[in-house]
Amino acid sequence: MTSPRTVVVIGGGISGLATALALMEQAKARGVALRCTVLEAGHAWGGKIVTHKIRELITEAGPDSFLSTKPAGLELVAKLGLTQELINTNESGKKAFVYSRGRLRELPEGLIAFTPGQIGPFLKSGVLSFRGVLRVGLDFMLPANRSTSDESLASFVRRRFGREAFERMMEPLMAGIYAGDAEQMSARATFPRFVELEQAYGSILRGMLAARSANKGGARQAARRTMFVSLKPGLEALVTALIGRLSSQGVTLRSGVPVDSLRVRSHQLGRWTYDVMLQDGSALSADSLVLATPAFVTAELLRPLTPIAGGLLEMIPYASTATIALAYPASVVGGSIEGFGFVVPRIERRELVAATWTSLKWPHRAPSGQLLARCYVGGAGREAILDLDDEALVERVKAELKEICGLAAKPTYMEVNRWLKAMPQYRLGHLDRLEQAEVALSRYAGVVLTGAAYRGVGIPDCIREGALAAEKVIRYFSGERH
Ligand SMILES: Cc1cc2nc3c(=O)[nH]c(=O)nc-3n(C[C@H](O)[C@H](O)[C@H](O)COP(=O)(O)OP(=O)(O)OC[C@H]3O[C@@H](n4cnc5c(N)ncnc54)[C@H](O)[C@@H]3O)c2cc1C
Repeated sequence: MTSPRTVVVIGGGISGLATALALMEQAKARGVALRCTVLEAGHAWGGKIVTHKIRELITEAGPDSFLSTKPAGLELVAKLGLTQELINTNESGKKAFVYSRGRLRELPEGLIAFTPGQIGPFLKSGVLSFRGVLRVGLDFMLPANRSTSDESLASFVRRRFGREAFERMMEPLMAGIYAGDAEQMSARATFPRFVELEQAYGSILRGMLAARSANKGGARQAARRTMFVSLKPGLEALVTALIGRLSSQGVTLRSGVPVDSLRVRSHQLGRWTYDVMLQDGSALSADSLVLATPAFVTAELLRPLTPIAGGLLEMIPYASTATIALAYPASVVGGSIEGFGFVVPRIERRELVAATWTSLKWPHRAPSGQLLARCYVGGAGREAILDLDDEALVERVKAELKEICGLAAKPTYMEVNRWLKAMPQYRLGHLDRLEQAEVALSRYAGVVLTGAAYRGVGIPDCIREGALAAEKVIRYFSGERH
């Protein structure tokens, strides 16, 4: 009997855990005997996924939901037996607002889903001027840009839809996902679908309309799910279920063990073995390594093996953000608290980036009679506010809420969650640099990268990329060089 192949996954966020699960499944399917270990530096599993339960309040320090339109998230939920726990956003109050020229204005529904609807709601919302709306429509007529060079997200959106639509509507929605500056973000890396639609249909709107009519059946099937979904007990339930499943499958899970460095132990007849040195001075060896750590950690770990890959990964910058949860007795809340919340375009030069009325969006997150709000600050170029201590930060956020939507009540619960160097920024040239790093790394067979730093920051992206990383490892073990 051949001895099992060993793989060490470094990083126990959703990417590392999803990779470990996919490794076990794919190894079983391909008849590969496998021993898998996951190493996590922190004492908790799940990385950015952190749910807090405070009496009857459920707050999410990091992500609070995920897209149902990217199948990997829902598939993992089903696989882990959590489908019963899935919750949709509250259908009855589904409105979103943008703060524009001194007041909150409702965003046209189709825009929130990035699907073009009727022109009427666009005009009625007042978010764009008449000229601005007409300029959006020009997308149907403008020729496609056939250049293959990377373009910033800001330039791409301005070119297709005009400056006003970019600054007043799309910038806060798109940049919010990446906590990024659209002037520096790569369109290809952040919103590849838009770039593909332009190439395929010559127009984003035409492409979306075509995709929508082609997907009528699928849309009916998926209609049970709103665009964003979450889990009733909080997203950490996904992590708990993953840990349970991995343990039951014999995966070794070690938390509180930061990896210090990596080295090649041996390389004979095309078979590589690596040493993983831990900060406590111990080491373990493996035939394959999956690095599911943030890019700046991965860069340091890889530098001794390949300075080229290390240098390229180090070039992926990270933005810092904070989420602030505030709870109020609903009876004392005044102001315009409506819908799911609002976003604030960069052009408004305010400190608040967005606010979600969590308890209106997900009624299970707070007991009735309480309003739970979640506010975002920080992001690329807007990080100065994070220098404030918690108390001053909350005061600043409260002042913003009062000015923007008239919410002047005193919160009965406050929580500040800081996320330093948490959001990878896919800057111009990101995908080219990534490809070069992977080429440099390919010399080391069985060493694979995954995680939010590379091809999508959302939870479903991380799960999908984890499965692809696992596939590379299993193919390598099966004798197919990746
Ligand atoms: C505030 C915020 C809100 C967000 N909101 C959403 C949302 O609503 N929906 C959504 O889909 N996405 C959201 N995201 C993005 C998403 O949460 C992340 O992109 C995703 O969780 C990242 O997962 P990951 O496993 O790749 O990385 P991480 O979660 O960062 O995991 C990496 C792990 O590696 C560990 N590690 C680091 N160094 C070492 C070492 N030397 N040795 C061992 N382990 C190490 C870390 O401790 C960490 O646990 C949000 C992110 C943030 C910060």
